[in-house]
Amino acid sequence: MTPEAGALLVEGATALDLDVSSHLDSFASLLKLLQEGNARLNLTALRTENDIVIKHFVDSLSCLRGGFLDGNLRVLDLGTGAGFPSLPLAILRPELYIVPLDSTRKKIDYVRATAQTLALGNVHPLVGRAETLGHHPAHRETYDRVVVRAVAALPVLAELALPLLRPGGLLVAQKGPISSAELEAGRRAAALLGGVLGEIQTFELPVLHDPRTLICIRKTGPTPSKYPRREGVPVKHPLF
Ligand code: SAH
Repeated sequence: MTPEAGALLVEGATALDLDVSSHLDSFASLLKLLQEGNARLNLTALRTENDIVIKHFVDSLSCLRGGFLDGNLRVLDLGTGAGFPSLPLAILRPELYIVPLDSTRKKIDYVRATAQTLALGNVHPLVGRAETLGHHPAHRETYDRVVVRAVAALPVLAELALPLLRPGGLLVAQKGPISSAELEAGRRAAALLGGVLGEIQTFELPVLHDPRTLICIRKTGPTPSKYPRREGVPVKHPLF
């Protein structure tokens, strides 16, 4: 990692009230592995170190705002891609039990290998679809948190995530700006699925000042057993 990229990481994390100083070696290794993996697997569109540090590492860490992920929690990262936000979270929060989920095997193979190289024993990657996992007794209603960055519209996320949360659990969705129409659709979907739209935090991505939103949906009761609908249906025919 160049000194400039390292300084950006510290600046971005500090703006989020996070201390990365004892983890700089891990982030440098993560950067190197992502760039190597990218040459083979096309994992990310971001190429420069500065871009990766801010738009992947710092952006991933921004879901720690608000304290929603504090404690010994079982966390599912729905649609982790190349491991975001899972891997930066796992570096900073060893007490979290993190399950990065993705339907693409080559991405999960990369995430698993990377977690091993970084000695992140708290990362337990899984290949699969949220629609399937949501009906599996070992996963349905077992997670304290579902985090999700850049996967789908809020009503889709609600259908995919709420079945996986235990009552009292929380979906934490990381997004850019969100329209009031999407929020309203998310609110209605949540109500159908045993959840309620909760806290919404708007802020700027450190350094770049891009608008960001953290949207929480709290699971308040059981999700009807017909949800999630079968593979692909939640995206194709959103509930709202
Ligand atoms: N969260 C990552 C990746 C976002 S791209 C990031 O922020 O960089 C969205 C990812 O979600 C893709 O890798 C895709 O394979 C995965 N995905 C989409 N729908 C899914 C589903 N229903 N179940 C599991 N993974 C899914």
